Amino acid sequence: MTQLSPARPESLLENAQNGFSARVDQQKTPTAEKKIILLTPRGFCAGVVRAIDVVKIALDLYGAPIYVRKEIVHNRHVVEELRAAGAIFVEELSEAPSGARVIFSAHGVSPAVRVEAQERGLKVIDATCPLVTKVHLEAVKFAKQNHTIILIGHENHDEVIGTLGEAPDHMILVSTVEDVDKLILPNPEKVAFLTQTTLSLDETTSIVDRLRQRFPLIKGPKSQDICYATENRQVAVKAVAPMTDLLLVVGSKNSSNSLRLVEVCQRSGVASFLVDDESDVKLEWLENVKSVAITAGASAPEHLVEQLIDFLRKNGFGALEEIEIKEEDVRFSLPPELTQIQMSATSI
Ligand code: SF4
Repeated sequence: MTQLSPARPESLLENAQNGFSARVDQQKTPTAEKKIILLTPRGFCAGVVRAIDVVKIALDLYGAPIYVRKEIVHNRHVVEELRAAGAIFVEELSEAPSGARVIFSAHGVSPAVRVEAQERGLKVIDATCPLVTKVHLEAVKFAKQNHTIILIGHENHDEVIGTLGEAPDHMILVSTVEDVDKLILPNPEKVAFLTQTTLSLDETTSIVDRLRQRFPLIKGPKSQDICYATENRQVAVKAVAPMTDLLLVVGSKNSSNSLRLVEVCQRSGVASFLVDDESDVKLEWLENVKSVAITAGASAPEHLVEQLIDFLRKNGFGALEEIEIKEEDVRFSLPPELTQIQMSATSI
């Protein structure tokens, strides 16, 4: 990949923001005119890598079956691969036999689920993303200070259910500016807000602005709760939107951060579709399209991106341009339940 040359597209420069910069790498074939624009960063975030590693390492250490409460990450292909390796996915702990080993997904759980696991003698390995845990801790802190906590997020999302469970008597869920307008709070001077980690940056900013207008003393997290991976992928999509006719987002339909990428692109006036893999692409989407940008949600494996590129190449997109908006080097350590057992295994 080369440094961006002086001939870099102005639209990309205009859209670079907050210290984000761009690098472009072009691999053109002489006759090709239709092109693929591959965005970086894309795909797996540190929380997803860790969660998948947790399941694989647990299977290695303990053997099948290992139970996983909810989808470990919101991606159909990842879940199918781990299921084939011996993981058993359950919706609720009651589906796992007493004493079984159970992994909590990257989206986190409410304290009630932890209590249930303890009461049933389940051996828990917690794969909750540390950035979700951070939001839980903020919820506990604000609840102890007797604040009403406004959680910005999507109803029924696994992460939101877990966060609400930290302080159910203190928390109110809002999803839109209109929801904020309807709020009637017991004490408007003791109020705080938190957000789901995978929201749209722009929509969340509008909601937070409205909260600050209505409740000027509102407290919030030091920096917003939307995670680095969600932010970086959205910034990349915004940067590429003026340069492409179409954006394909690799991700599953229940992946919040993937859905947000589609919406961000569509709000820029550019067509965008979510695809689980290349078999979801409809050829009519490609009619009169000269450039297709590709990104992937934080839970989508890279091999699906490679399959999509192969598919597009076979359908006349002969050039590939890679655009890197930001380098990511975030890593999370494994949960202590696994590091302790790994350490004792190596010290034998
Ligand atoms: S999308 Fe963000 S919050 Fe969710 S697992 Fe990845 S890093 Fe963690």
